[in-house]
Amino acid sequence: MNNKNKIELILSIIVIILVLVFVFLNKETEFNLYESESEEQQLNNLEQENDELVEDSLLYVYFLDVGQGDCIFVQNENETMLIDAGNNPDGKYVSKYLRKELGIKKIDYLIGTHAHEDHIGGTDIIIQDFDIGTFYMPNKTSENKCYTDVIKYAKEKQIDIVSPNIGTRFNVGNATCEIMTKNDDAEDYNETSIVIEMNFGRQKFLFTGDMETENEESRKWDDIDVLKVAHHGSTYSTSSKFLNEIRPEIAVIMCSKNNDYYYPHEKLIERLEKSGCKDIYVTADEGTILITSDGRKNTVKSLKELSFDGNK
Ligand SMILES: [Zn+2]
Repeated sequence: MNNKNKIELILSIIVIILVLVFVFLNKETEFNLYESESEEQQLNNLEQENDELVEDSLLYVYFLDVGQGDCIFVQNENETMLIDAGNNPDGKYVSKYLRKELGIKKIDYLIGTHAHEDHIGGTDIIIQDFDIGTFYMPNKTSENKCYTDVIKYAKEKQIDIVSPNIGTRFNVGNATCEIMTKNDDAEDYNETSIVIEMNFGRQKFLFTGDMETENEESRKWDDIDVLKVAHHGSTYSTSSKFLNEIRPEIAVIMCSKNNDYYYPHEKLIERLEKSGCKDIYVTADEGTILITSDGRKNTVKSLKELSFDGNK
């Protein structure tokens, strides 16, 4: 090969390499263009994925009227969660309703938000009457009888009591739950409350136990659709700052009529309204409140006659 031919060959190779590089780079930009879809598009895709996840499936959230206390039952696709079980005399009524009326045999996730009677008073009966999957409760012991009863019956049935970490996730059917706060070391029992965010399709629920402002300020919160208002509507929880972060559309307050604490506090109601919350439901007025969700929208129904208040 003479020199001229050699140069021609080298030049041709360089040209081929350049063309290949050009084509490859162009492809890269094409891919990049495809990948960098708008935020809106990404959100739409996410919503579509969420819709597919919950297609043809309804989520039921019962805020059971146990008078001055909390008891929330969640069901989707034959999986269940019970957050608290009211006061001691309420347990048997809650248990009977779940077994006889709803045909429930197993509680996949039993939550005792914290060791106060108005939350775990009826939990001992639930442990006795149902198969229990996972049992979450903060690691903060108490001398009171309802707490020691819960421990006793859990031991008898060899159910482990687990104190979940913040960030722990689990599913109830197609609903995804996450532990948002909990502080085993807090002196105030209310601040040990296990707080759970539940996502179902496009809908977000927040179950707050009796959390107070210290825990509200301990983290960032998502935009929420349905809020179980903390501590029965006390003004010492649910600050304006917290409400501005979560901006709930529906708020449920669980308390009894003419209770000794004047719940729900007027100032709390004012803050809720000011934050733009359109629908506020109080179990004292509405009885048991059932929210049914298809993942896109929520339907609220008051079941006025349905009360589980054993103190009545
Ligand atoms: Zn309480």
